[in-house]
Amino acid sequence: MTEQPRNATFRFYAALNDFLPPRQRHIDIPLAFKGRQTVKHLAESLGVPHPEIDLIIVNGRSVDFDYITRDGDRVSVYPVFETIDISNAIHLRQQPLHDLRFILDGHLGRLAAYLRMLGFDTAYRNDIPADQSVTEHRILLTRDRGLLKRKAILRGYCLRSSDPLQQLREIVRRFDLVDRLQPFTRCMVCNGLLKDVEKSAILHLLEPRTRQFIHHFKQCDTCGKVYWRGHHTEQMEKIIEEMKAIDR
Ligand SMILES: [Zn+2]
Repeated sequence: MTEQPRNATFRFYAALNDFLPPRQRHIDIPLAFKGRQTVKHLAESLGVPHPEIDLIIVNGRSVDFDYITRDGDRVSVYPVFETIDISNAIHLRQQPLHDLRFILDGHLGRLAAYLRMLGFDTAYRNDIPADQSVTEHRILLTRDRGLLKRKAILRGYCLRSSDPLQQLREIVRRFDLVDRLQPFTRCMVCNGLLKDVEKSAILHLLEPRTRQFIHHFKQCDTCGKVYWRGHHTEQMEKIIEEMKAIDR
């Protein structure tokens, strides 16, 4: 038995257009489909991972991801944080993104170090971090769209750039982090917290010149790595100043 194809029209707003081929950006996209299809599935079939989506409006009313798309539907899809004035809309993210904890997939080591440098709780793993993202309510950062489309992932962001510093700028803007930076409070190696430490307690770990000229130290409460400010942190401090100056 053959089924008549149905037709819907999709339109994606703001940064969601990054996921579309250029000829489909910022325009109405006609989509033919067969059978019972959720609006989430059809949006993903066009290339947009669901964790990037905050709001879906069908024929003027907000719907959730499980809405079964009907013939003739007009679907508007909005990203997280896009400001639109629509009352009584169902926002698909249940909690606002207050609780900022990140998990990064295995190719993003430099970005993980930068986020920790800025004080953000950042897990970083080589294997696929989907489960940890769910159990610890972490926001998954990745360049792998397939990973973001997994059903279990609720909160995620697909990095546009492949350059770690540019990725950091993207994250600071996207999650509005400028006022939440706590530089040099977290270990860049293991994500542990840094505590002030008496110089006498770590003297045996220092090179002679550091021992002579540096007086204030912090130490990771997890791996024991010792941190201090000096020539080696100048580049990092420059990056921190740049992030503080990002306008929102
Ligand atoms: Zn550490």
